[in-house]
Amino acid sequence: VIRDPRAHLAELEKRCASAGLPVTAQRRTILQALVTRHDHPTAEQLYSAVAERLPDVSRATVYRTLDTLSDLGLLRRVAHPGSAVRFDGNTAPHHHFLCERCGSMEDLPLDALPGAADLVLADAGERVAREIAVSVHGRCAACARAAAD
Ligand SMILES: [Zn+2]
Ligand SMILES: [Zn+2]
Repeated sequence: VIRDPRAHLAELEKRCASAGLPVTAQRRTILQALVTRHDHPTAEQLYSAVAERLPDVSRATVYRTLDTLSDLGLLRRVAHPGSAVRFDGNTAPHHHFLCERCGSMEDLPLDALPGAADLVLADAGERVAREIAVSVHGRCAACARAAAD
């Protein structure tokens, strides 16, 4: 689901405010970067994007803000073995497709993996599962085309 970035940004700002987090220029710029791109940027990529618009921003501020926003559930950290943690402005449940060749990460809607919604953690013991996410590894369309040429 591609949402209207402006409506999404307004909603995130409202959620910040109601969590008692003032929406500073830095936070707004970070949120803006997150709602307008769907490539699951790393913290470093977000820092570069923010620094283009706010040259005085420090790396530490951006990293700390990402932690704060993720603690509030306003963004999602996506960690896959072998790649840097990436940030996702799409907090709705979804799966990911990770390209092993170019490293791109795409959203997959839940219905792209029939049956995945029925997955349960058997023998959970005392563990409490918060989410079950499926990641699909392979080649994105562009890389699959390049390999076929
Ligand atoms: Zn690729
Ligand atoms: Zn995603």
